Formats: sequence, structure tokens, C-alpha cells
Amino acid sequence: MNSTNLKKTNILGKTLPEMEELLVNLDQKSYRAKQILKWIHQRGICNFDDMTDLSKELRNIMQDNFIIEAPKISYEELSEDGTKKWILDVGNQDSVEMVLIPEGKRATLCVSSQVGCAINCSFCATGKQGFSRNLEVSEIIGQLWLAANSYGIPRTASDKNITNVVMMGMGEPLHNFDPVVAAMNIMLDENAYGLSKRKVTLSTSGLAPEINKLGKVSDVSLTISLHAPNDELRNTLVPVNKKYPIQLLLDAVKNYVEGCNDRRITTIEYILIDKVNDTLELAKELADLLTQIKCKINLIPFNEFNESDYLQPSGNRIRKFKDYLVKRGYVTTIRSTRGDDIMAACGQLVGQVNDKTRRKERIQRAKIEAQSI
Ligand code: SAH
Ligand code: SF4
Repeated sequence: MNSTNLKKTNILGKTLPEMEELLVNLDQKSYRAKQILKWIHQRGICNFDDMTDLSKELRNIMQDNFIIEAPKISYEELSEDGTKKWILDVGNQDSVEMVLIPEGKRATLCVSSQVGCAINCSFCATGKQGFSRNLEVSEIIGQLWLAANSYGIPRTASDKNITNVVMMGMGEPLHNFDPVVAAMNIMLDENAYGLSKRKVTLSTSGLAPEINKLGKVSDVSLTISLHAPNDELRNTLVPVNKKYPIQLLLDAVKNYVEGCNDRRITTIEYILIDKVNDTLELAKELADLLTQIKCKINLIPFNEFNESDYLQPSGNRIRKFKDYLVKRGYVTTIRSTRGDDIMAACGQLVGQVNDKTRRKERIQRAKIEAQSI
């Protein structure tokens, strides 16, 4: 960062009310905030001089006080199937990843919320690297800003290249509550990305109290990473289950869905790991368990990575598990593995954590963090 920028406030992560407040504090009209949000998020502009419907005086004031700065792209890679992965440098040798998955008219951006993750699920590459820090709002919304800009700048207000956002990159989003909610508010704001609440999805490992808290401030789509139908097994896969067991979690989900008031369906993610959680007995137990909520089930064949001994089940085992759930009346999909050749698939997102000492530090921090969840 340029030294003259040191005292300047980065406004990339400012929500509309915050932007209004910043302007009022500078004796400016608050309605200008909407114009500024549009320039930044709908056009991809980061130079105040280009904001041509603001007076020259206001542009100068902005220039003196603010900057618009996203994380730096340190690496980008395009998969054979069109999936694109970016590694972003968020300072202090930390990096996070974001993945863009185009599918016909849709394009889904998978956004990270933390550097590493403290939950430490036994099957997840992100979890294995430990926890470094929470991302700031500008670093979360900055991912969408950068990905949207990759289609070309200036964008026009009608460009809606990215149609869906899933908070399924690195990190546990509910573990970084306020910044994630603020970033999602910018995604939904009609002056920014104007995404519908159904097309912004938060995926969580199951922090029940935070799901209740989320219901009070947001109504985005919710995905629960369940992965097991009973506590004994789930404790071994998703350690936070020891603190918030399955029934507590499902009660929080019911509470959330009721609050949405629009016949919302929750997605249950179930990673299939060979001979660990993929038997037909467990499919039956899962089907019985889920009768209490309105949901669809997304099966994710385990994506293998070096540091894990788990294996992906055979196609046959996956199909049998799915067929059973379908027979029981559940809408069940199998997530296709996208971007596997560039390690952009679920659970393969690790940023750059090759340094052994930093890795130890992170694991230590993750332990401390996990105790405070
Ligand atoms: N922390 C949140 C969101 C990020 S993880 C959560 O756990 O929900 C996003 C998804 O990727 C989760 O459903 C997670 O269970 C899945 N995932 C993690 N590791 C995986 C792996 N090795 N193979 C396939 N899916 C994985
Ligand atoms: Fe964290 Fe989600 Fe990975 Fe579990 S699956 S370690 S909660 S990122």
C-alpha cells in the first residue's frame, strides 16, 4: 500500500448505512452514498475521478479520505471445465482462494470467509491447515468485486455476470459473523450487486447459536454441512458437533426457516466418504432424521487430497446411497466435482500454507479458537 494511503479508509467493504454516515461526517449529502456504491460495485470503478456524476469537489474530498482496495490477486488458474480459481494475497503471507463456476446462464462464486478454519473437520483440507484470521468485510466482498471485474471494466449496471454466491470457500462463515453479514448485505443491496436472498447461500458446519442469531438479521439461503445422521459419527467428522449436537442444530434450522416466512427449503450437505458414512443403514438413519425439516440433500463425493487417508466411494456406492434417499422422497443431488484438475473443488482450498512453522502456529491458534466457539 502507498504510504499516503495509510490514513485513508478503505470503503470497498462499507454497507449503504455506513457509507451514508461517512459522507455525513464529511458534511456531504447522504444520498450520494447510493451513487458511490453503484460506481464501486456495479461498475467496478476504484478511481474517484471516474465517478463523473459526483461534483469535482466531492471527488477531491473522497480522494483525500478514502481508497477502494481489494485483496491482490497472486495467482489465477482456469480449469478445463471453465472453473476459475484465484489465490488472493491478504497480507502477512496469508492467502485465501475463491472459485468461479460457470454453468450455462448461471455463474456461481464460491467465497472464503476466513484464512484457514478453526473447526477442523477430519475430511477438510482447509481445516487441516489450522486458523490464521478472520477476513475483513472488504476482503470478503472484494472477492465478488474482483470476480465481477474479471468480465471487464467498466461494467455496466445491467451486467449480472455472477448470479449466485455461496459462502463455501475457506473458513466457517458463522465464525466471522459480523463481517460476513455485512458483506452479504452488500451482495443483496440493489445499489450494489442486487442478488436475491435465495441466490446468496451461507454454508455452516453447524454453529447453532449463530444460526439463531443470523435469523434475526438475515434471510439468505442456508446450507448445513451435516455429513452424518447421528452424534457418535458426526463427532468424529465435524468436531463442533460435540458442542452443538444434531438435534440442537436442527432446532436452530427450523427456527431460521420459520423466520424466513416463505416456505424456505434448507440444503443438507452430506459428504460421502468410503466406508465411513456411506452405508445404506446410515442412509436410512439420515432419511428418518430429516423428516423433521423441509430440505433437499446434496451428496458430495469426498474429494481426495494428500494429507487425508479417506477415500471417495465407488460410483456404485454413491448411486445406491442416493437412490435410497430418492426412494424415501428426498430431492437428492450429487454434486459434480468441478475444477478438480486445479485443486478448486470443495475441501481442496488451502491457500498457500506450505510453511511448516506457520502451519504449527495456525493449528495451535485453531485449538484456542475452537475452545472459544
Ligand atoms: N465451513 C463451512 C463452509 C465451507 S466448507 C461448512 O463447513 O459448511 C464447504 C463445503 O465443502 C462443506 O459442505 C464441506 O463439508 C465440504 N468439504 C470440505 N472438505 C471436503 C472434501 N475433502 N471433499 C468434498 N467436500 C468437502
Ligand atoms: Fe471449516 Fe467447513 Fe472445512 Fe469444516 S468443512 S474445517 S467448517 S471449512
